[in-house]
Amino acid sequence: MRIGVVGGGQLGRMLGEAGLPLGLTFTFLDPADAPCAAAVGRVIRGAYDDRDALAALAAASDVVTWEFENVPVDAARWLAERVPVYPPPSALEAAQDRVTEKLAFRRVGVDTAAFVAVDSPEDVLRAIESLGLPAILKTRRMGYDGKGQLYLADEEQVRGAFATLGSVPCVLEQVVPFDRELSVLIARARDGGRRIWPLVENRHAGGILRWSVAPAPGVSPALQARAETIAATVADALEYVGVLAIELFQVGERLLANEMAPRVHNSGHFSIEGAATSQFENHLRAVVGWPLGDTAVRQPWACVNLLGRSPAVERLLAIEGARVHLYGKSPKPGRKIGHVTLSGPDEAAVRARLEAVRTLLDGAGSS
Ligand code: AMP
Repeated sequence: MRIGVVGGGQLGRMLGEAGLPLGLTFTFLDPADAPCAAAVGRVIRGAYDDRDALAALAAASDVVTWEFENVPVDAARWLAERVPVYPPPSALEAAQDRVTEKLAFRRVGVDTAAFVAVDSPEDVLRAIESLGLPAILKTRRMGYDGKGQLYLADEEQVRGAFATLGSVPCVLEQVVPFDRELSVLIARARDGGRRIWPLVENRHAGGILRWSVAPAPGVSPALQARAETIAATVADALEYVGVLAIELFQVGERLLANEMAPRVHNSGHFSIEGAATSQFENHLRAVVGWPLGDTAVRQPWACVNLLGRSPAVERLLAIEGARVHLYGKSPKPGRKIGHVTLSGPDEAAVRARLEAVRTLLDGAGSS
């Protein structure tokens, strides 16, 4: 089977790493000269909406998928007229706009933060009258890693906020006083079969994921069941095929959906070594039409992102249980250039190893 992937970043590279042992071959479409997925397949260089490049990708592929969610929906639909494309482009469309995304959650009974769509500074003022402060103003489209959003604590910060975000359609959200952030990852097959990984706990700073632990500590069976119902309900409603990640806020025993990623996700990287089947392998199994694999996690795991710069590999490897993944990207402040996964006999050991990696990162000036 020949897999076409729109995008050639680290997620594409890790899809390739998972698929090559299964006999899959990869072609990536990417505008960059030497994207990091070039290590695991052929690259067609072109813009994501370049019809010649898309036609070349379709011709080189038995099935096409993507590794980032801002793929132009038109391009995904155009491809789908020529070659099987999974997940369905409609899922991409639902996830690209924060308002349609929240409505998709609400439609199937999944709670979200209170929100109001806003199209002008006056709308923002009106929305604040109903939602109150603090609130978060986010662009509806193209936001990622904390970009395109402003935390509004007082009237002063409200003034000019809409213009600061570029005077584009936005959504104003009430701030959720969450206990912690979790994510649930589901793989859904073409025949509707599903496999769901245990909840992952995620820690962000500056809107960027710093580290994750899996399974999330202290999750009651009822909370895991609630997350699985959310994942299954959303994936079924979207007639989804592949891996879908849903970011959640935990408030007591309640779960609110923040956003979904219609692709493999940073919070699932632990699964490369940490789950019986990784998110990358199950995504491929799903889109190819093969049986899904077991998602059990048999011991505690953590994953730390390497942002901006990495400590020397040998120093990371000196930490017991550490597995290093470098993406072959040149260092740049804030850029995800790799990750380290860590296992251990119990949560306390993994936590200590996670702190050891974070201490090394501080020393490396990782930002
Ligand atoms: P997002 O781009 O929506 O994933 O937001 C980035 C991060 O901002 C989240 O991971 C949360 O830490 C925080 N955040 C976003 N929306 C809210 C909200 N409504 N209430 C509280 N924190 C939020």
